[in-house]
Amino acid sequence: MGDKSNMNEMSGWRSILEDNRQKYVAQLVDLLRIPSISADTASVPDVLRAATWVADRMKGAGIENVEVLPTGQHACVYGDWLHAPGKPTVLIYGHFDVQPADPLELWDSPPFEPVIVDGCIYARGATDMKANLLLCLIAAEVLLAAEGELPVNVKYLFEGQEEIGSRDLGPFVSAHRNRLACDLVLTPDGMQWSADQPALWMGTKGLCALQIDLETAAMDLHSGLFGGAVPNAIHALVELLGSARDVEGKILVDGFYDTVKPLTDEERSGINLVPYDAAAYKAAIGADALVGEPGYTTFERAWARPTLEVNGIWGGYQGDGVKTVIPAKAHAKITCRLVANQEPEDILDKLETHFQRHKPTGARLTISRLGGRARPYLMPRENVGIQAVSDVLEEFYGRAPFYVRVGGTLPIMDMFLQELNAYSVVVGFGLEDERMHSPNEFMRLANYEKGQVVYALLFKKLGELAPGSMVADASVSKPLGHQS
Ligand SMILES: [Zn+2]
Repeated sequence: MGDKSNMNEMSGWRSILEDNRQKYVAQLVDLLRIPSISADTASVPDVLRAATWVADRMKGAGIENVEVLPTGQHACVYGDWLHAPGKPTVLIYGHFDVQPADPLELWDSPPFEPVIVDGCIYARGATDMKANLLLCLIAAEVLLAAEGELPVNVKYLFEGQEEIGSRDLGPFVSAHRNRLACDLVLTPDGMQWSADQPALWMGTKGLCALQIDLETAAMDLHSGLFGGAVPNAIHALVELLGSARDVEGKILVDGFYDTVKPLTDEERSGINLVPYDAAAYKAAIGADALVGEPGYTTFERAWARPTLEVNGIWGGYQGDGVKTVIPAKAHAKITCRLVANQEPEDILDKLETHFQRHKPTGARLTISRLGGRARPYLMPRENVGIQAVSDVLEEFYGRAPFYVRVGGTLPIMDMFLQELNAYSVVVGFGLEDERMHSPNEFMRLANYEKGQVVYALLFKKLGELAPGSMVADASVSKPLGHQS
């Protein structure tokens, strides 16, 4: 599709890819056979076996300085090829661990015995992300084989504990800052929009969480004796929660939006190029209506605007029948999804101030900050690195990528930004329907092969850029502090 350079490169790296198709599929089968389940302590030797396999494969590709490095429970693998003086350095980040395969009875074939049906390879870890990991090693291998060198300096970092939260990766990256120094991070741990529509994931949301415990009396009270004369903890909680958000979804906490980077016209038109069907969107989730902050479209709200949601609420009598009681205690859990440039600690300060200020008469309030803090991440569209990636995708697919965002958190991208001052671009070749983390996970082999070509093209394109031209603005980097 649309790859014009095909002809004149047929004798070089592209023909090596063509000639070795079957071998590369066989290698993927080998890697998929290793049950590298990071969550299962019984699988520790298998995760290490996957690390060793990846390290050997890296060496086979011509990557140098390959090492299996211990990080807490599971090792990671590092390797590099740094013989392109005057060229930028790209760090490829990914993982070789997988999710547990349970429930096993829902698999049509055993999860660690890969089978190929109709051009799809079925196994745990196929789309997330062993095929994606392997394709970017193959890209370097064929370029080295055909041209004797890479057009850009490349470093690889693959970890063995992504599926359990990358607990030891932050300290590892911090300790190896010089070794990992780069201009741009590419992560193949991701997907395209569809088989023929590329996408660039420009941002992820941050997160902060708190719990409210509210008390209005020393004990639950008889509603006949005291009703109408004393505060009710649940009513007080409802009133308090109602003060934080208006009916349309605008957040009423003082200063909540102060640091939000407004959406530019270009960003908005990018988001709104993505096809949207309100009826289908509602039908998919069984909702009768969509609500949200006025002035924004559904995708803008979900991807690019901050939120405040009550996630749980409890208190009072919930058993059978009737209990005429005035509850003395009520509780709620709240999370906020944050967007650039909101800081989790600052938003928690503002929420706490808001709830203390709006404390209903007679309510005793305890506010606890919960774990799970993450900073939002946003890649500036004008960054020359993202433009180069966008150009490669557009040339290869024959259409411009969608510029989309994710409402979830991916703390790793902020971590690379803070530690290495480098932006991360997700360029993976899975598709949404490939049952990531579910039974019968699969990957389309056609996309595995597309990815090999695209990574070779990415290395070439990024090699044309000046070193230093795509690094992040150091002034935006601030440590988040230690988080669990
Ligand atoms: Zn993954």
